[in-house]
Amino acid sequence: MKIDVVSIFPEYLAGLQLSLIGKAVDQGVLDLNVHDLRDFTFDRHNTVDDSPYGGGAGMVMKAEPWALALEHILGGESLVGATSVERTVGADTGDEEPAAAGRPILIVPSPAGPVFNQRIAEELSDADHLVFACGRYEGIDQRVIDWSGEHFDLRPMSIGDYVLNGGEVASMVMIEAVSRLIPGVIGNPESLTEESHEDGLLEYPIYTKPASWRDRDVPEILLSGNHGAIARWRRDRRLERTAEVRPDLLAGLNGLDKHDRAVLERFESGDDSVKE
Ligand code: SAM
Repeated sequence: MKIDVVSIFPEYLAGLQLSLIGKAVDQGVLDLNVHDLRDFTFDRHNTVDDSPYGGGAGMVMKAEPWALALEHILGGESLVGATSVERTVGADTGDEEPAAAGRPILIVPSPAGPVFNQRIAEELSDADHLVFACGRYEGIDQRVIDWSGEHFDLRPMSIGDYVLNGGEVASMVMIEAVSRLIPGVIGNPESLTEESHEDGLLEYPIYTKPASWRDRDVPEILLSGNHGAIARWRRDRRLERTAEVRPDLLAGLNGLDKHDRAVLERFESGDDSVKE
């Protein structure tokens, strides 16, 4: 997968050089490029913002630098021509391949967008080319966002109902959530199964050695070696935890069997004898 990120703080994205994502970049599984928006400005001060029409506090990111940066990513005839603009976090091969199928997906982080979740991460993990446009100040001039919809599959996206200072952290959240679903990024793909949100449920409680720690014991069943019983115990805990912490998720669940429903009913009635 190719990932381009445009920001006025490209250094922010350096964290993506670390850990599993960094390794995937090194191994060529991810082709990750970070672009400095100011490289697409031509005035002495590399201006990317101006005051809002209609008045009000704060500044708005200007349309033209964004259009030039996005045109560059598209590999089209940008006014910037051959200017070297990439600040490569990973290995940028320089091969500007067009997206294999369809248009690149342009993700515009915004608290005013639909909320990102695991389903969207799964959907995006199938894409060939993702582009992240990190806004700052009060955000980006709406005209270039509208314009970009003619060239990209445009996806405004919020990471939650709160306001950050910029789109960099939001982009990193989404890049990490999407990338770890791409084959070859996580060493053991089995660790992706039964994770929170993987099938609409939260994860079961997890434990490691020692079996007894500060008078707290690991649940007996996990030491039993009975894989069927352990799997059932874990599913029951997932159901209970979801009912307790995120009851809103239960409404969207399909495929609950009789036992699952009994666990939820017991939980709702306050009977926790099932945990033994
Ligand atoms: N004026 C905007 C509003 O009220 O919707 C908020 C702008 S915010 C200060 C600056 C930038 O941070 C946004 O353009 C966006 O890139 C990013 N941002 C802030 N909160 C976000 C969130 N919850 N999810 C994704 N991006 C966010």
